[in-house]
Amino acid sequence: MTLRALVTGGAGFLGSHLCEKLLAAGHEVLCVDNYFTGARANIAHLLSHRRFEALRHDICFPLYVEVDCIYNLACPASPIHYQSDPVQTTKTSVHGAINMLGLAKRLRVPILQASTSEVYGDSQVHPQREDYSDNVNPIGPRACYNEGKRCAETLFFDYRRQHGLATKVARIFNTYGPRMRRDDGRVVSTFIVQALAGADITVFGDGTQTRSFCYVDDIVVAMLRLMDTPAEFTGPVNLGNPEEISVLALAEQIRRLTGSRSRIVHRPLPADDPARRCLDIALARRALAWQPSMALEAGLTQTIAYFRALDAA
Ligand code: NAD
Ligand code: UDP
Repeated sequence: MTLRALVTGGAGFLGSHLCEKLLAAGHEVLCVDNYFTGARANIAHLLSHRRFEALRHDICFPLYVEVDCIYNLACPASPIHYQSDPVQTTKTSVHGAINMLGLAKRLRVPILQASTSEVYGDSQVHPQREDYSDNVNPIGPRACYNEGKRCAETLFFDYRRQHGLATKVARIFNTYGPRMRRDDGRVVSTFIVQALAGADITVFGDGTQTRSFCYVDDIVVAMLRLMDTPAEFTGPVNLGNPEEISVLALAEQIRRLTGSRSRIVHRPLPADDPARRCLDIALARRALAWQPSMALEAGLTQTIAYFRALDAA
């Protein structure tokens, strides 16, 4: 059945891949974005598609459209971007969630929230499971994002309890792949751009902090499956690749895969940088019959090819 799907943040990295997959599955897509960190170039190839429509709109303001389901992805996701205008980040997470939940309530349609591993803060429990509470600093520089996303989760569950909405929360861990911005400061894009340019690869701290990196296509498949779950299934559900790697090992792997002779240099660790990020995906395996299929080396190879092609263009 063809559905009309609303994707907020649809011109961003994850959102543009989600729009593509929804179109490929035969659905209509309304992409809503204010282009704060997204780009028209990410959706340029979709604009002529007869089932695709793009609308410039800031979700901090109400939106009146008719759709059958809502994927709420709008929010800057890289630390340098979400910290560049922290008040707007909180507004997007909180006011944006209220507006999109209000729309879902009027239309009585399911709504999925792109939440984040950052709700766990600097977790003291490894791997992170959905029932782990948190270790979040509410007043630090990352708080606008962490606390904004936590409040959005609260709103999703309260709208469900109070208004009976079919709400679904995905806690997404570090995701990478083509269409990451080269200047967004996130570690995978930054290291690849540095390695390809022969510039120093900047490891923050001693590089022993870890992350679990998931290829974008795997995350998009999981989001589609989550939307397809019965109304009773709400999550929160961790989505990511449980393979954990230190930032230093990632730098070395990217240097090897690019054949770069860049030096690896160390820079100060940013405040509140989580020491360890690895996830338990037992719930996603069970409820979504999902697990990531792309190994890190293969995904990095594809991402490197994307950045090489950009350099060549
Ligand atoms: P992104 O910055 O590429 O995409 C976010 C999009 O939202 C951009 O197109 C931006 O212009 C748009 N946007 C921002 N504020 C808006 C507003 N007020 N109104 C309308 N549009 C707005 O980031 P991404 O990596 O694609 O992340 C997408 C979502 O997934 C975010 O909600 C993010 O928190 C979540 N997420 C991403 C990751 C990751 O590793 N990429 C991890 C966890 C969670
Ligand atoms: N990082 C790094 N060098 C960089 C950019 C990031 O060492 O040039 C580190 C950063 O300190 C963090 C990890 O890489 O420990 C992941 O950073 P990113 O901003 O990609 O995501 P997040 O911290 O939100 O998980």
